[in-house]
Amino acid sequence: MAQYETHTPAQLPERIRHYIDGEFVDSADGATFDVLNPVTNETYIQASAGKTADIDRAVAVAQRTFREGTWSQSLPRQRSKVLHRIADLVESRGDRLAELESFDTGLPITQALGQARRAAENFRFFADLIVAQADDTYKVPGRQINYVNRKPIGVAGLITPWNTPFMLESWKLGPALATGNSVVLKPAEFTPLSAGLWAGIFEEAGLPRGVFNLVNGIGEEAGDALVKHPEVPLISFTGESSTGQLIFANSAPHLKGLSMELGGKSPAIVFADADLEAAVNATIFGVFSLNGERCTAGSRILVERSVYDEFVERYAAQAERVKVGLPHEPETEVGALVHPEHFDKVMSYVEKGKSEGRLVAGGRRPEGYETGNFIAPTVFADVAPEASIFQEEIFGPVVAITAFDTEAEALELANNTKYGLAAYVWTNDLKRSHNFAQAVEAGMVWLNSNNVRDLRTPFGGVKASGLGHEGGYRSIDFYTDQQAVHINL
Ligand code: NAD
Repeated sequence: MAQYETHTPAQLPERIRHYIDGEFVDSADGATFDVLNPVTNETYIQASAGKTADIDRAVAVAQRTFREGTWSQSLPRQRSKVLHRIADLVESRGDRLAELESFDTGLPITQALGQARRAAENFRFFADLIVAQADDTYKVPGRQINYVNRKPIGVAGLITPWNTPFMLESWKLGPALATGNSVVLKPAEFTPLSAGLWAGIFEEAGLPRGVFNLVNGIGEEAGDALVKHPEVPLISFTGESSTGQLIFANSAPHLKGLSMELGGKSPAIVFADADLEAAVNATIFGVFSLNGERCTAGSRILVERSVYDEFVERYAAQAERVKVGLPHEPETEVGALVHPEHFDKVMSYVEKGKSEGRLVAGGRRPEGYETGNFIAPTVFADVAPEASIFQEEIFGPVVAITAFDTEAEALELANNTKYGLAAYVWTNDLKRSHNFAQAVEAGMVWLNSNNVRDLRTPFGGVKASGLGHEGGYRSIDFYTDQQAVHINL
């Protein structure tokens, strides 16, 4: 029996099903898989386990609608109107969405609500962008006019992870649909609940039937079938770097277009001249918000030696004050990790960390939470760069702090990992901050700032953190073909 008073949302579906050609359907072979409540680790629902036959059906429907052209050949203004309606509906259902998301993922409810707002904003952003889209024309006076024809590609395969699932789905669905593609979405198997909401939202907003299709299932089955389907010319994937490598290899025979947003081990670099209070607050938020299950988490903090002891002391004290609690309670700041398998993985790093660094906060279950996937915010100081907790993505509320003496050493430490997603730099030296940003191997850098996105800027990582960049017109580029047309004068 569960030890906690869990909050179960009203009106859960009887079963989580696929959505193909405008209808909720089961798998062709009737197979299902268990979905767990992260607070109790009890199965709370069954979800349809898609296989090749289900993917084949969804792709065929998506392809048919693409060819029919009701959506793919509609005017940008028409698509923009539908996308704005989607954004309105997501906004108006924010509370319900957050409730389901928090229940399924274990994310704190207030943060799940923030992610629901961001999902609406993603649609609104691409609704605006698509009508402002301008393509190039080139003239060679008296000889030629050359222009660009932009076309949707066809069926986009979208594969998403379990952290902030609804928001990350919107980050792919928004631009894929804005540009006129049809889609097949394969959400993460740990957290399939909220994806079903897209069906009703899209229907109500007026997206033509069959343009959006959803197949649930295990990555190695449903995800794999989508990646290997010859009629899916592009795959947008967010998930682990190792999965990205496999998808890259499986896409090679078809030379698919790939966009990959992968793992991270992002550094936050705190120089002695920084506003220490702001740096402590932001780096606490940077690794403990979203349960630490955040791709851009600042999970390595590098601190200049002259302020190191003070920083570690303040940081550990603040980490101890972070409120761990049940996901649905509004005061909760860290909820339950998504799944017992993930909990075990994070806990194994916590145990390793005890010999790799000096434990200054957490390192255990929080008091009163003897079952479920709860971990107290955990801080290790004096972590050597070769330590596994410095090198490997933990994806939980665990942070490694390391001292440095010079700017050159800080840069070397920052770049000393296979990943290159984000970096956060804290200094009041203007020149140093910009020079550091230029030199650090990261797709995104925040200077004296929390992780706040501007959707027009590139989003993506370097090294093992990704392939290609989305964000702004880059997303439009990924989801379209650009054809050059030449006219002789
Ligand atoms: P994961 O790689 O295990 O799974 C991601 C998705 O891929 C799931 O839907 C899964 O079912 C599917 N999948 C798994 N194996 C597959 C296969 N062989 N073929 C096709 N699909 C397959 O990742 P996860 O554990 O769900 O998510 C956490 C990871 O995602 C972390 O590494 C995190 O950093 C990363 N992430 C990155 C970003 C970013 O924008 N860079 C954002 C969020 C999460």
